[in-house]
Amino acid sequence: MLFVISGPSGCGKSTLVRQVMSRVAGVDFSISHTTRKRRDSEQDKKDYYFISRAEFEELIKEDRFAEWAKVHGYYYGTSKREIETKAGKKDLLLDIDVQGAQQLKKKYKKAVFVFILPPVYKELKARLEKRGDVSRKAIEKRLATAKKEIRAYHGFDYIVINDDLETAVEELASVVLSQRCELDARQKEIVSILQSFSEE
Ligand code: ADP
Ligand code: 5GP
Repeated sequence: MLFVISGPSGCGKSTLVRQVMSRVAGVDFSISHTTRKRRDSEQDKKDYYFISRAEFEELIKEDRFAEWAKVHGYYYGTSKREIETKAGKKDLLLDIDVQGAQQLKKKYKKAVFVFILPPVYKELKARLEKRGDVSRKAIEKRLATAKKEIRAYHGFDYIVINDDLETAVEELASVVLSQRCELDARQKEIVSILQSFSEE
């Protein structure tokens, strides 16, 4: 199953995804391509596939992306290959921006769309300032974008409000676990259980 996790910059997407990955077995992370520079804390091919602008544009031309968008002046995209190779084996978490989520909504009808909201605007601002990875001007731009992006919440299946981190992690983990209990997702196991009843 695909889980598309989206929301404004600073709402806590990557924190929540990291926490759920470490707590729930059978979950994988979709590694995106990007043209932005690698941060010191990041590893190529683990956090992102860091590529040049020309390489990214070539991949767009070759129709290799399931979705892509320009975010804060850089290209970001999820390759079709990333989804094809990982989604069949485990539950796959995608941490992507709102434009990308809207593109996937049209293509992957069965995917689960989760929108992360901060508890209040002031807290989003405080978190972006505290993270301190971009300039004052960039923070202002992200906050202006956030004001538009939050209106997209109604196109999503689930809303997680990231106020208390522990509660939000539990909520996101519950979304993943509840999908595993859906009738369709359980068909294989059901068949095998029913089979065991007819054998005795
Ligand atoms: P995003 O991936 O959506 O841009 P991050 O996961 O980087 O957001 O979170 C933005 C900042 O807010 C980070 O510094 C992170 O440690 C902090 N943060 C995330 N969730 C919470 C929370 N529930 N309470 C307080 N700080 C949080
Ligand atoms: P960052 O540069 O801070 O890692 O991410 C910036 C923004 O890009 C975040 O909102 C993140 O969700 C988004 N993003 C990361 N990967 C992708 C992707 O593959 N596609 C899209 N559309 N957005 C992405």
